[in-house]
Amino acid sequence: MARPSPPPSVRVGPNGRILALSVAWFTEGARLRTEARRAARCVECGRSLPSRRTPYCSRKCQWKFHGHFFWDSARSYVLLRDRYTCRLCGVRRRARELDVDHIVEVALGGAALEYSNLQTVCRTCHREKTRAFNARARSGGARPEPAEAAVAPSERGASEA
Ligand SMILES: [Zn+2]
Ligand SMILES: [Zn+2]
Repeated sequence: MARPSPPPSVRVGPNGRILALSVAWFTEGARLRTEARRAARCVECGRSLPSRRTPYCSRKCQWKFHGHFFWDSARSYVLLRDRYTCRLCGVRRRARELDVDHIVEVALGGAALEYSNLQTVCRTCHREKTRAFNARARSGGARPEPAEAAVAPSERGASEA
């Protein structure tokens, strides 16, 4: 899948936090959906659609598409993709006991809105990683290697940090 970068209408601060979403970030999705229905092609994968009633060929494409525009939808997609299983300890849990967070912290250059940089973690593992990251940051913050980078709190809501 092509890796979408946040549209220019999203203002991201130096620490990677999203500072402002212009209206365009939401209306752009609506525009794409309208075009897709007109062309009878799935707005996410481009496959031709049997009808023009929806712009999506499947629920999966619907979730994926929403994920480009809304964090909450990205969250539900990632939970489903990871089968509600913590990627760190491998334990399957209920959605409300799971967080979705960034594999490479946004502040360290990780992509904020790409599925490839998102993973499902349980609350316990998330707390542990956050604590480890904070400790490293306090001790002068050697940049961790991407492979073992500490995980940042998600854009909003998903973290207790
Ligand atoms: Zn599709
Ligand atoms: Zn875990």
